Amino acid sequence: MSTIRILSDRVANQIAAGEVIERPAAVIKELVENSLDAGATRIEVEFRHGGRSYMRVEDNGKGMNKDDALLCLERHATSKIVETVDLDRLGTFGFRGEALPSIASVARFELQTRPAAASSGTEVAVNGGKLLHVRECGLAPGTRITVTHLFSAVPARRKFLKSDATESAHIIQAVRLYALACPQTAFTLIEDGRILFQSPVCLTLVERVAEIFGRQLAGDLLAVEMMEEGIKLTGLIGRPGVSRTSRHEMITFVNRRPVDSRTLNYALIESYATTLAKGRYPVAVLFLDLDPAAVDVNMHPAKREVRFRSEGQVRGFVIRAVLQKLRETGHVAPVAPANADAEMRKAEWRRASSFPAPAASTSAPAGSSVSVTPHSPVPPIILPPAGPAGSPLSASAPPFSVFRAPPPVVLSSTAAPFAPPRTPGLTGWRFLGTAHGDYALFESPAGVVVVDRRAAHERVWFERLQSQFVRGELASQRLLFAIPVELDAIGSALLLDRLDWLAKHGLEVGEFGRNFFRIEAVPAWLEPEVAEDFLRDVLGLIREGRLDEKNPRLAEEELARLAAQKAVRLPDSANEADALALLARLFACSQPHASPAGRPTHFELSRGELAKRFQR
Ligand code: ADP
Ligand code: MG
Repeated sequence: MSTIRILSDRVANQIAAGEVIERPAAVIKELVENSLDAGATRIEVEFRHGGRSYMRVEDNGKGMNKDDALLCLERHATSKIVETVDLDRLGTFGFRGEALPSIASVARFELQTRPAAASSGTEVAVNGGKLLHVRECGLAPGTRITVTHLFSAVPARRKFLKSDATESAHIIQAVRLYALACPQTAFTLIEDGRILFQSPVCLTLVERVAEIFGRQLAGDLLAVEMMEEGIKLTGLIGRPGVSRTSRHEMITFVNRRPVDSRTLNYALIESYATTLAKGRYPVAVLFLDLDPAAVDVNMHPAKREVRFRSEGQVRGFVIRAVLQKLRETGHVAPVAPANADAEMRKAEWRRASSFPAPAASTSAPAGSSVSVTPHSPVPPIILPPAGPAGSPLSASAPPFSVFRAPPPVVLSSTAAPFAPPRTPGLTGWRFLGTAHGDYALFESPAGVVVVDRRAAHERVWFERLQSQFVRGELASQRLLFAIPVELDAIGSALLLDRLDWLAKHGLEVGEFGRNFFRIEAVPAWLEPEVAEDFLRDVLGLIREGRLDEKNPRLAEEELARLAAQKAVRLPDSANEADALALLARLFACSQPHASPAGRPTHFELSRGELAKRFQR
């Protein structure tokens, strides 16, 4: 007897559900997409307990007759494509005909639907893939789908769900993406009986952004529009200076579909390179429209990743469009970023991020030059070209080898880790001055030490704040004038949950009206001018789950890391006393070598190394 069997539909659906339906937000995404595909101009989404106990999506779209209402629960039943060639011309969100049967196989599922022409509707109820009943029901034209007890029969999947707050943040984000994609459809989102956002039909994207992110952000955005050889980019980008700690507000759509695209993210970040600090992300809502045949959306049923047939062209186009806009506002130098600082920062970012370095913009070929500043008055040092790996040339020229990989100096610091003096007295140390504002130079008994002032300052503050948090010393200063802050629905919901925790850490925020807050007191170490930025950054961390209440120690560490960047400003110039004091404090730290973000704080060129370089 053969051991191979055809899977029953029910089992096949449950397996497919594992791919398509990873979490409650995926159910919402599929249902909202179906509503939009059905031409709805009004969609209402409601959920409870992060979606695990209850989700409802209701629309005023075209509805289904009784036959279709039954058929749509069959695997691969779709009204949207007939042949695979259709995939290239896809104008709808759905096409696989997998979502509904998958959802119905792992939850209790109830569909009520009615086409406008029919006098009554059809109700179909299914539980864990088993049909419970089909009957007539009363209903306004449109479709209502209710999903309850998600994964209750699949404990393995239920285990993977995160806290209600996390699942709910995913749902809110999903709905918000579709609301941005379709401003002409009215959206309502309700959680546990509370309206999170409600946006009427909007005529423009800015209006929709204002509805869901708040007027304040909407006012900080610039409209972009550019078209070129069949590709079109439209949407909104943040003014330079507007940035976030997370990528959540870098929102991109391709042919109206929300996507995660390294190419687009990278292009955006690169466009802002000169104005973005490390670890910060721009804000943007961008729509790229191009020939569907030039995009591959069929990579993974649940993932939002897309691939472009021509990544380089898309990337270049987006960078040009964004840069042009930024230049018009006068925030970007008219020529491509030519200052060493920005280039270094970009290089750093590339190293720190998972994005591959773009082939096109890698600057000098390896082994050619160590010039960092293009306008440097000193002619660049031309090095002998690196020989083939393992050749006598590369083996016999060790003093040069450290220069070959950019940035040279950082590499040499890892090659020769610097040991801080045992006594913090710094005997025999001399401050030589600062270079380019950022770097303090010292002569040490063992050589020459270069300190990144900012990295050192952040390390010192990070450890200071951490120990204050541990000791519970959290002095705060009450503000004479409270600072008003408008947040979006997610931000408000998250903040409301954390008001006490923040107050315990010196940041007192009060709610006054829906989505409106007031910063009333700030921690003693925070300058009031940056309080709002700080609060928004804190919310970014909360959204990423990095300020987890269940792990207070880690949460405080994250808070201290962020705070160190914002804490009391670094003076613009350093005199000898300040410089030595900073150094002494740095060496008193438990981990003086790296900034809280993991950048090196300093490195030493030993006398031996100096002598070697000068071939003495
Ligand atoms: P797909 O969207 O890939 O076609 P689904 O399983 O999501 O597959 O839906 C199956 C079919 O059910 C759709 O093709 C559509 O015809 C119908 N359908 C689903 N949701 C709705 C809705 N809200 N209104 C009208 N028809 C719907
Ligand atoms: Mg669908």
